[in-house]
Amino acid sequence: MNSEFDIIKKYFTFPGTRDDVLIAGGDDCASVSVPENKQLLITTDTLISGVHFPLETSPENIAYKSIMVNLSDLAAMGATPAWLTLAISLPQVDEIWLQKFSTTLAEVLKRFNISLIGGDTTKGHLSITVQAMGLCDKDKIMRRDQAKAGDKIYVTGHLGDAAIGLHALLNKLDDEPLQSCIAKLNRPEARVKFAQALVLYSACAIDISDGLVADLGHIIKASHCGANIFLSKTPVSLASHYYFEKYNNAIIDWPMLLTRGDDYELCFTISEKNEAAVNELARQHQLPISCIGEITEGSELNFLNTAGEIQSFTDTGFKHF
Ligand code: ADP
Ligand code: MG
Repeated sequence: MNSEFDIIKKYFTFPGTRDDVLIAGGDDCASVSVPENKQLLITTDTLISGVHFPLETSPENIAYKSIMVNLSDLAAMGATPAWLTLAISLPQVDEIWLQKFSTTLAEVLKRFNISLIGGDTTKGHLSITVQAMGLCDKDKIMRRDQAKAGDKIYVTGHLGDAAIGLHALLNKLDDEPLQSCIAKLNRPEARVKFAQALVLYSACAIDISDGLVADLGHIIKASHCGANIFLSKTPVSLASHYYFEKYNNAIIDWPMLLTRGDDYELCFTISEKNEAAVNELARQHQLPISCIGEITEGSELNFLNTAGEIQSFTDTGFKHF
């Protein structure tokens, strides 16, 4: 392994390129062709060792998650993933590490029919920046500024499992029931397929990467509206209930579930007339969804407990600075 070009050739070059890739890997730029009736969506996310994942995280989990967090952003707007670039900074050339990283990368690319079309390879602290690009039909996207008063607010899956998974990892809790939370942290499943279909019924979605409080907060702000969320309707997994029973005197820690993030579920709004269709869609996709509240006039985001009292959150979400 003499140079970064050897690394790129051996670990970041995969067969099976998509037909719409015109130039990939090797030239100064990559080039793709976007069909006339489609709209291009672009997103990027960086994962830094020690910041976004614990130092000892496996190369397989790092590869998987660095792609999945980007696919989750594409899903949030209803796009079908198509192409990816990878800028990676490595502390040293560790071929065992690179092989594991590369194998998982290839698996995820294949599963979603994505082509890796370019990138950058440098030496430095371990850091991975993926840029993902996707397509959707023109004007058929979900945006965070499209919520309307009266819309029902839904989320996919269960919220807060990743936070419990991280807590279990850092505190070396080896309870079997918490393994699913650790899996949710390391192997989140972006709701790509469901989101592609959801676009027909919803104009407004966001992915819950920073926690529901912060991310729904973005919808409220961008859409100039408010929301009432009922904690009793907010989906909590059996694993989370197990955790609170055993480690928190059976009290649900809502800030833990709703402000830590890393869930990669979707929060979306739909008008009442589309509720039946969307619930049917979720059933077809075998994806649990829950109606947790409603968009309101005004500008307040209220979380109501079973007694109808407002629960406030001081920390709203993960912040870098
Ligand atoms: P340049 O000097 O023009 O910036 P580089 O030397 O950085 O090009 O990269 C050479 C080629 O290899 C480019 O086409 C680039 O897109 C590709 N490449 C570099 N790193 C990666 C990577 N980690 N994954 C995929 N392609 C990469
Ligand atoms: Mg370069």
